[in-house]
Amino acid sequence: MRTLDSLPDLRGQRVLVRSDLNVPLDGERITDDGRVRASVPTIERLLGAGARVVVCAHLGRPQGAPDARYSLRPVAHRLGELLERPVGFCPETVGPQAAQAVDALGDGEVLVLENLRFNAGETAKDEQQRADFAQHLASLADAFVSDGFGVVHRKQASVYDVAALLPHAAGGLVAAEVAVMRQLTEDPARPYAVVLGGAKVSDKLGVIDNLIALADRLLIGGGMVFTFLKAQGYEVGRSLLEQDQVETVRGYLEKAQRSGVEIILPTDIVAATRFAADADHDVVSAQDIPSDRIGVDIGPESSHAFAASLGDAQTVFWNGPMGAFEMAPFAHGTDVIARVLRERTAEGALTVVGGGDSAAAVRQLGYADTDFAHISTGGGASLEFLEGKTLPGLDVLED
Ligand code: ADP
Ligand code: MG
Repeated sequence: MRTLDSLPDLRGQRVLVRSDLNVPLDGERITDDGRVRASVPTIERLLGAGARVVVCAHLGRPQGAPDARYSLRPVAHRLGELLERPVGFCPETVGPQAAQAVDALGDGEVLVLENLRFNAGETAKDEQQRADFAQHLASLADAFVSDGFGVVHRKQASVYDVAALLPHAAGGLVAAEVAVMRQLTEDPARPYAVVLGGAKVSDKLGVIDNLIALADRLLIGGGMVFTFLKAQGYEVGRSLLEQDQVETVRGYLEKAQRSGVEIILPTDIVAATRFAADADHDVVSAQDIPSDRIGVDIGPESSHAFAASLGDAQTVFWNGPMGAFEMAPFAHGTDVIARVLRERTAEGALTVVGGGDSAAAVRQLGYADTDFAHISTGGGASLEFLEGKTLPGLDVLED
């Protein structure tokens, strides 16, 4: 993969940087600026080299047309605070106004373009439509730097097509994320444990399938666990269940047994009367969930067993909270995993947290980013990497 070192002298060059600035917003207030922070080092490095930096990114899911709710203006403002220098903002992505704003940039100055997804060409399935938009983007720059790890699994104009039109390289963030993902897939230090949770098993089937061949232990919690329990023949009450995946999951359980991978499921479950923070709840056996109850977290006995199983792990990948952590009474299982990972990190293990909600969960529970070896900025991208898929946005940086 080409890195920043491969780009020639950048002084005075217009460099288009694709960052991942897709932050959660409450009105115009950024509720978690983790992705903006993560994009700073590459931009700083380019500015230090005297480049004229043009940052492009998307925010939310506007429908291919301008939509004020998804303007990147507040994000550009936050970027300026973090860079401690003025950051221009262009209320247009491509077009005469954007061209003018880029022309006005001096060496070592930076500008953010408006949300890429205000243009239908950005995410178009139609190759020609995407190529046309990429052409407009490319006309604004002399070189392209891909630094939005959260989008490298997308075949989109600003991620994929534009790279083919300009001299290109991976930014520091993409290079660092890929280095960690390689450590997780190529000869990881053992024991290698994978902790999976979150809402839906169907989001993570590919990863489970691929990791059975790679990991030594697979610990399953969160909403997906009920499909596993059902596959083992237990009833799960009103818990989250994907009936159409029960057969597939049964296949995984058999595959794991054949390949000697330990799959560790909870033995107890916190079961609530309603999916609400103030609902009555008890700890019940995972094999005996009452028919009127909803499983909302792994139980204390399971947390203890999961912690013990992670105690000697040298590599841990964690994706997906163990319970409905957004409700404080049901965050215990997630907290226990985070605490053990912090201990493992201190002991020198490679601990990686992937997934937007998982990253939000550990921050909400008061953990520092440095409690883990790595918190990935790209949930979907890291999962697809671990599935062994080819990621278009990385593939295009190879040559
Ligand atoms: P990530 O973004 O880290 O990949 P997911 O999006 O897969 O994670 O899942 C996160 C969501 O899973 C959280 O909103 C959490 O409330 C939910 N969740 C976890 N356990 C349960 C459960 N037992 N029942 C319902 N939802 C759950
Ligand atoms: Mg999520």
